[in-house]
Amino acid sequence: MQRLLLAYHDLFTKHDAGPDHPELPARIDVVMNAVRSAEWNEMVEFVDARDATPEEVALVHSERYIDAMRRLCEAGGEYLPAMESNINPESFPAAMRAVGAGLVLADGVFKEGWKLGFAPTRPPGHHAIKERPMGFCIFNNIAITARYIQNTYSIKRIAIIDFDIHHGNGTEEAFWRDETVLYCSLHRDNHFPYNKGRRADTGEGEGEGYTINVPLPAGCDDETFLEAFDRYITPEVLNYGPEIILVSAGFDGHWRDIIGGMRFTGDLYEKIAKNLLALAEANAEGRIISLLEGGYDLIGLAEGVTRYLGGLIDEQG
Ligand SMILES: [Zn+2]
Repeated sequence: MQRLLLAYHDLFTKHDAGPDHPELPARIDVVMNAVRSAEWNEMVEFVDARDATPEEVALVHSERYIDAMRRLCEAGGEYLPAMESNINPESFPAAMRAVGAGLVLADGVFKEGWKLGFAPTRPPGHHAIKERPMGFCIFNNIAITARYIQNTYSIKRIAIIDFDIHHGNGTEEAFWRDETVLYCSLHRDNHFPYNKGRRADTGEGEGEGYTINVPLPAGCDDETFLEAFDRYITPEVLNYGPEIILVSAGFDGHWRDIIGGMRFTGDLYEKIAKNLLALAEANAEGRIISLLEGGYDLIGLAEGVTRYLGGLIDEQG
């Protein structure tokens, strides 16, 4: 059994995406209840997420965009078409705190020697691009965490593995021309964000070959996902030799999730955890930081998170 550092703050439940919106505050309560009631709950240490500073968020986003989001939220919020959701006065503080959760976990790993970190970040982040929000996301939590780790701890090689069922276009964009971050995404083909995440999209310039996109057919099952992971992700990550693995952990591929449209079972999320542990132990001293992305069926989300974190914590299982 291995201990896990979990960064949380109540602000994650204060961002309000609007009536009947699937990206519900209750998602985070469900995740926290699942963790607290899991048989491995004593292996979890809880820590408060801190606020990210605007300078930290500017590692990935423009100052103009950060300031615009702050002002929009302070003015009371509104529906943002690019984000496909509302923002409210708490959305900006929640988004800053969600970024800060990743940074607290990074410090936990590199200052205190933690191997496993997780945060139920909300709003999620992997669609957010430099100048604007997108797909329920305000700031790109995982991309900012990667840049923070590089800047603060002089880490040269980071792998980001994104198993949310949507392509993480914002994360891809942040590292498209960058060989210091290997971005790997497995996602549903021809789904939001459309025309992104094609197999042939592999990065440009210095970053050529450091973006690995694996589109999967709609309705795909556990076996197909695992075969694709073994074939396309495992060799690339082993060859790259990252010093830490960051994970965009989305659970919208669960069979219950109507937004995802896949057929993954709880077993898959435990198997993904085992695969990630093997990759992290090869070169990264077992370091894995996972940040929550999607997952909209509350029962499926709870099962996915429980099996995934359980798979990381119970390393023998
Ligand atoms: Zn998603």
